[in-house]
Amino acid sequence: MDPQSIHFNDWQRLLFGNAPPEFLIEVLIRAIIIYAVLLFVIRLLGKRMSGQLSITEMAVMLTLGAIISVPMQMPERGILHGVVMLFFVLAFQRGFTWFVFKSRKVEDITQGAVSILIKDGILELEELRKLNISREQLFAILRSEEIYHLGQIKRVYQEANGNFSIYKADPVKPGYSILPKMDDRLGTDIQRPADDALLACRHCGNTIRIQSDKSCPVCGDKDWEKAVLAK
Ligand SMILES: [Zn+2]
Repeated sequence: MDPQSIHFNDWQRLLFGNAPPEFLIEVLIRAIIIYAVLLFVIRLLGKRMSGQLSITEMAVMLTLGAIISVPMQMPERGILHGVVMLFFVLAFQRGFTWFVFKSRKVEDITQGAVSILIKDGILELEELRKLNISREQLFAILRSEEIYHLGQIKRVYQEANGNFSIYKADPVKPGYSILPKMDDRLGTDIQRPADDALLACRHCGNTIRIQSDKSCPVCGDKDWEKAVLAK
């Protein structure tokens, strides 16, 4: 666009661009057609597109969004190439899904694998660091599942789609308290020290009988507190 032709009080251009006002009606018709085709394509992509998305499905969704914006709004473009591209993405996703289904390795790379975050009451610190999940984020999720100390946990997985799966320990063992530290009242209301000699590592949750000046055999830290059991 010629810089000379830009004026701030040029309301005609600001509101309608270079297209005549009648193009508004055309945009409406374009939008209805593209919307109908888009619904059709998403329907064909499969059921899960409308529920929880995997990362490849998310990428497809974003691509669909980018494709439809041009034929909906650009007066100099027809809608046919947009429609063709939508079907091309559909074919691509179908082919890709088939490929992923065939190869375990491709599946792991594109969909992400399951990660173990807690194993028998002990945090998998290296895994948490890799996934960029803080201990407090994880504890918040556990508290929402009415888990108050790590001894209640057998396994916590993060699934490929980002969800957490929690398996509780049975029987419950003494463990590291995950209640908010500033809420002492709650702590003493629902928890009791498991045993005076039993300490929990503040870093990884490892719970053992150990002298408080010794390093944690799991993570090497020296920061201990008394392990707890639910009352
Ligand atoms: Zn530790």
